[in-house]
Amino acid sequence: MKIQSWAPKVYVPLVAAHLVVLVVEPARVLSWSYALVLATLLFTLFLCWRRLHFSVKHNRPAWACLLLALVVQTAAFVLLLIDSLKNPLGTLVAFDPTFYFCLNSLILTLAATYSPIGPLQRWSGAIDAALACVIAVLFYLLLRRVIGESSTDPAAARFIMWMFDAMALFVASFVTLRFIITKRADERRFYFVLLMFSWAEMIFPAVHNRFILSSESYVPEIFLDLPFVVLGVLLSFRRTVWFRGYRPKPRVRVIAGSITPFILSAALCLLALGYLGHNAVVAIGALILGMISYAVRVALVVGHHLALEDELRGMHRHLQQTAIHDDLTGLINRRGFYRILKRDWASAMATQTTLTIAMMDIDNFKAYNDTYGHLAGNDCLAAVSGALKNEAGLYQGVTVARYGGEEFAVLLSGYDHAAAEHILQRLRLSVEALQIPHGRGTNRMVTASAGIAASAEGHYVKIEPLLDAADAALYAAKRAGRNCVRWFAADMAAREPGKHSLADSQRSRS
Ligand code: GH3
Ligand code: MG
Ligand code: MG
Repeated sequence: MKIQSWAPKVYVPLVAAHLVVLVVEPARVLSWSYALVLATLLFTLFLCWRRLHFSVKHNRPAWACLLLALVVQTAAFVLLLIDSLKNPLGTLVAFDPTFYFCLNSLILTLAATYSPIGPLQRWSGAIDAALACVIAVLFYLLLRRVIGESSTDPAAARFIMWMFDAMALFVASFVTLRFIITKRADERRFYFVLLMFSWAEMIFPAVHNRFILSSESYVPEIFLDLPFVVLGVLLSFRRTVWFRGYRPKPRVRVIAGSITPFILSAALCLLALGYLGHNAVVAIGALILGMISYAVRVALVVGHHLALEDELRGMHRHLQQTAIHDDLTGLINRRGFYRILKRDWASAMATQTTLTIAMMDIDNFKAYNDTYGHLAGNDCLAAVSGALKNEAGLYQGVTVARYGGEEFAVLLSGYDHAAAEHILQRLRLSVEALQIPHGRGTNRMVTASAGIAASAEGHYVKIEPLLDAADAALYAAKRAGRNCVRWFAADMAAREPGKHSLADSQRSRS
């Protein structure tokens, strides 16, 4: 039988039997009632153990906390059962179960502080856990002062009731905040279950306590079952990922994340104030701890965010670098070339200086690939790029980029006609100087051709015509027999109809 179909089949008869016992009021009704609550609790415990068994490894400590909280509550109800067997009318404020209920709240809070991922989360979680322990101890000490070992005084019972309401509200709010800021889908299931359980543990016992203080009826005892029924039903669902689409908005996470440490510190300070009349030293110590812990938490978060900002800046720089670099040749790529070209173009236009662009292309490279293979072609391309880069590095304001395939773009800022020609010839010669054998190449070596165009000569007002001019000049160099440099001339502009330039096709690809 599937576990999800067990839950109603077990809970409905248990709750119905409990209701019948409470309405009929047999002898030792309270003992019967606690026994039935225990039965409900034990079944929920079984479901929780099963859920822990099937949960992913990093969530197990959180599920184990919930299981432990149920074990502690089981101990509390066993004590209540024993107490009711000794005293059939019950003790209004039984001390030992009270301790276990405190412990239960502490364990649920610890489950909400648990965060295994990320150093900040681990440290914050550890501080929150330590604070939760101090809060629980102070809460317990305060209860001890008020009620002593046990009491039948309704005023003490009312005070304890309000304290427990406050504690349950604190736990439920803390768990709710934890649920809101939970990013991981697998954790969300746990925190949703914990959220529903902690609110059920806040509402149902609060209603129960108010009824038993104001009425003689035993029927309100049924409310003790309900948190475990709510938890058990949620635990019996098979779905592992809940709220798949839920992603906390960054602003919500920041707000909820900053309230979380505040809630803990504020709870500790409030308890310390309540304790001031009993032991001033402990109270002031707790007050100081509450404030210091908040300051440490804030410092941790600020420090973490500063480190994160640094890391992000570094990553951004690295990304920008890789986005404009070509891996094979180590040169900047076409995107990088356009970025520099736009910047240099604007400055050349503003200062009325010459901007020269050259297109260089390895000669007969297809034949090289066909003869020596694509890998050798890659090595050749890398060697040619290295030579061009080294040569260009000797001149200021000269940039070589891999424009695409075996084609390079060279940008020369502030050079006149003769200087630009000289640099391009040097670049061409640097390729030739590599002396890479190429059986089907010009001079049986790997060579390159270049076409040049300068902004001053064409009176260009846009970048594209200048690139087209350099491209047309490159074709002229190829037609002239390769391994040479050609300047753009006006008659080159009238290209054969239907023939698109290489630069056009590269730009349309980019
Ligand atoms: P031309 O002298 O007219 O430029 O002739 P070509 O053979 O060099 O020109 P074509 O455009 O016909 O061929 C270019 C070749 O470059 C084709 C392509 O396989 C090769 N190529 C482009 N990029 C790479 C690359 O990254 N690695 C290698 N190994 N080959 C490449
Ligand atoms: Mg070529
Ligand atoms: Mg080519």
